[in-house]
Amino acid sequence: MVARAWEGYDVPVISCLCLHQAMLHYWFCQMWLWLAHYLRHFSLPLPQRALRLKNISVLSILQTDIGILGAGPAGAAAALRLGTLGIPCIIVDKATFPRPKVCGDAISGKVTTLLHRMNPDMLRRFDAQPMHTGVWGIRFVAPNRKVLDIPFGGGIMPASASAPGYVCRRTDFDHFLVQEMKHYPSITLLENTDIQHVEKTGSGYCMATADLRTQVHCRLLLVANGAHSAFSRKIAGLHKDPAHHAASVRAYFDGVSGMHSQGFIELHFLRPILPGYFWIFPLPDGRANVGLGIRSDVVSKKHLNLRQVFQELICTHPSLRERFAHARREGPLEGYGLPLGSRPRPISGDHYLLLGDAGHLIDPLTGEGIGNAFYSGVIAAEQAQRCLEVQNFSADFLKAYDQRVARVLGSEMQLSYRLQSLLAWPAVASLMANVIAGNSNIIHAFTRMYTDFELRLQLVNPMFWLKMMWRKR
Ligand SMILES: Cc1cc2nc3c(=O)[nH]c(=O)nc-3n(C[C@H](O)[C@H](O)[C@H](O)COP(=O)(O)OP(=O)(O)OC[C@H]3O[C@@H](n4cnc5c(N)ncnc54)[C@H](O)[C@@H]3O)c2cc1C
Repeated sequence: MVARAWEGYDVPVISCLCLHQAMLHYWFCQMWLWLAHYLRHFSLPLPQRALRLKNISVLSILQTDIGILGAGPAGAAAALRLGTLGIPCIIVDKATFPRPKVCGDAISGKVTTLLHRMNPDMLRRFDAQPMHTGVWGIRFVAPNRKVLDIPFGGGIMPASASAPGYVCRRTDFDHFLVQEMKHYPSITLLENTDIQHVEKTGSGYCMATADLRTQVHCRLLLVANGAHSAFSRKIAGLHKDPAHHAASVRAYFDGVSGMHSQGFIELHFLRPILPGYFWIFPLPDGRANVGLGIRSDVVSKKHLNLRQVFQELICTHPSLRERFAHARREGPLEGYGLPLGSRPRPISGDHYLLLGDAGHLIDPLTGEGIGNAFYSGVIAAEQAQRCLEVQNFSADFLKAYDQRVARVLGSEMQLSYRLQSLLAWPAVASLMANVIAGNSNIIHAFTRMYTDFELRLQLVNPMFWLKMMWRKR
């Protein structure tokens, strides 16, 4: 058979074919060897994989009980709370601070309350910074252009040291938090360390840079790497849900006219972007952070181009065009996503907790994420303390974190979600504004809205609005 197969070929052709067969065989074997080597390499745990690298002199393998991925407000709050508890931790960020972050820069009373609770000196140092403006109230502009000024806490004027809220560029605020970490020798901060691998180990997690030369092994991983967290998506399974996610753009401006004399932040509920809003937040030196945010499902449904909508609003909207006529934009109009906390999701698992945006904890109505990130960071640190006390990092034990976050932030976010749904109707939003504006008693009651959750709860109760409509002015 074989002999017959060669019939008709001369000798050079046969040797050529043999050589070809041999080469194929060689490459096939090489491919298998390479594949086996590759599979073996990637099935090894990270430390052993790294030891196989040629230049091991620059290898840095660090061991800690508590590792924190991301040094934004969530990670920084966790590190600072651990610092005040005297628990060592390693916190890693890809950036070198100060670094910019796309945000509205409004910092709520939750942050100042927690800074004070962790260490009153921290709040004193923050108050003493020149880079922020105190916020003493909110100006709401309804779809019918009715303007409502609601001062905070019964209209306290800016005499006391601490304002109820602040507007502070994130470049400065996040840098302030990183500087605060330096007061605690138990906190090790690794900047300029981009984590590309996070893997489960026998005793917890290992996070490593792409070249594996920097590795942090920990028993409990606090995941605080923001809205684009791959860990949150791939390991914890929290996927983007457009009905519980917002798209947003913002830019800095100089010279916006008609700003509130007492530094109120402004929320404009404008028809084209409901149930989202347009904001103007005052910064020092006559600057302002200006932006808009809308739920992602609405953006898709209405085929909105946010940059175009933003530009059209400041150039043509009757409430805004005059105010932006001589304003100058400083820097680009930048966008980023906001994972909203309107849909409760699991935020812990075996040996890990999700914090801040990585845990989808942004308020669905206001877009407030810094305060919620801060709360989750503090709660995570206190949960870490309990884990260390009883040496338990199991998924079951860590569920206490989900429960505490839900207790502190859950009902507030659910209420915000209901209010957000109401405000999707321009007529409802305008009616609410008319009722409030026409009744000084309500305005007075609303000054407590910021701190009084029970009062805010009334806002979704139709009976409350009926009573208010008939109440004596
Ligand atoms: C346009 C816009 C306006 C907003 N306005 C407001 C507002 O006015 N008030 C408010 O309270 N909230 C606002 N938010 C929400 C707020 O910005 C976030 O909720 C907040 O930043 C969440 O903090 P965080 O620490 O969870 O995440 P982030 O602040 O995103 O911090 C995550 C950190 O992780 C680091 N990181 C990421 N990947 C890696 C990696 N691979 N390796 C190492 N480090 C990594 C990043 O460098 C970053 O420092 C706004 C959001 C947007 C998009």
